[in-house]
Amino acid sequence: MTHKIAIIGLGKIAIDQHVPSILANEDFELAAIVSGRRATVHGLPSFRTQEELYEAMPDVKLVAICTPPAGRFETTRTALLAGRDVLIEKPPAATLGEIAELAAIATAERRVLFTTWHSRFNPAVEEARRLLAGRRLSRLEVDWREDVRRWHPGQAWIWQPGGFGVFDPGINALSIVTEIMPEAIFVASARLEVPSNRQTPIGAEITFATADPVPDSSLTAIFDWRKEGEQSWTISAETTEGTRLVLTEGGAKLAVNGELVIDKPPEEYPRIYAMLAQLLTEGRSHVDVRPLRLVADAFLVGDRQSTEPFED
Ligand code: NAP
Repeated sequence: MTHKIAIIGLGKIAIDQHVPSILANEDFELAAIVSGRRATVHGLPSFRTQEELYEAMPDVKLVAICTPPAGRFETTRTALLAGRDVLIEKPPAATLGEIAELAAIATAERRVLFTTWHSRFNPAVEEARRLLAGRRLSRLEVDWREDVRRWHPGQAWIWQPGGFGVFDPGINALSIVTEIMPEAIFVASARLEVPSNRQTPIGAEITFATADPVPDSSLTAIFDWRKEGEQSWTISAETTEGTRLVLTEGGAKLAVNGELVIDKPPEEYPRIYAMLAQLLTEGRSHVDVRPLRLVADAFLVGDRQSTEPFED
């Protein structure tokens, strides 16, 4: 069965990834766009609101929501209550309360809700998870440093409340960590650096804890948006038996004890849509809030420090 799907919010990720991945998947037909600017691609019908879409094209029963996280609650709620199945870009909502309510609505309405975490859909992440299963970690280091001017030019929403700041990319690392960690992880302490003219952090450090920590273990993450030159999206882990895993390029490459074992071009979004097709067939939702909870807890316990103003 082919699912007619509409994209809501035709921004960077919609154009770069969702449009080509949907067009390449026979299980889906890209039928329409919902865009506040009535932007479109491939001459598809474009509607200013969901309501206009549903009125004009009642056979579109599935939407992919690619708007910024703040405001996404209402967008998702509207879609679910209109009887649509929903895929949501990461992060699934601006708060934990919102996503809990959306999951409850999806259950009550018998709709499929899929909270995607694209970085998890790399073969190297799956292999890391397999290798770490049943092990204990003596060290975990997340090193996520990139240049905000290069990757988020002119995106005002990332600096506003609900915009996540450096956790907008950082939550991708946390989505990998929560996927590969052999045990539950939570935030012990955090430090947030917030430019004096902005609302969200430009840099952050987190120290993690587990319920039964390995003696002398160290589980940490550094996120920094001020990195020029070579960018770093690296997660290193070491087991108590001495096996060293290094995931680089956001989860695309995996080295084990210094030897590169997986080096595959990213195929995150095609695999996301393959999973969506499976969830629709099974009538099953997939809602995972763990990465969002780590960010929320970092904001809750974080020591907030004001840093120099940031100008785009
Ligand atoms: P973007 O380029 O700013 O696009 C977001 C789109 O959402 C806008 O073009 C706009 O589309 C719509 N929109 C609705 N309300 C908006 C508002 N208040 N402010 C701005 N735009 C609004 O953002 P993006 O980079 O695509 O990111 C969207 C989501 O995808 C975020 O949650 C982000 O974390 C996630 N994501 C981004 C990337 C990436 O590489 N950029 C990667 C993975 C995931 P219309 O004008 O068409 O309505």
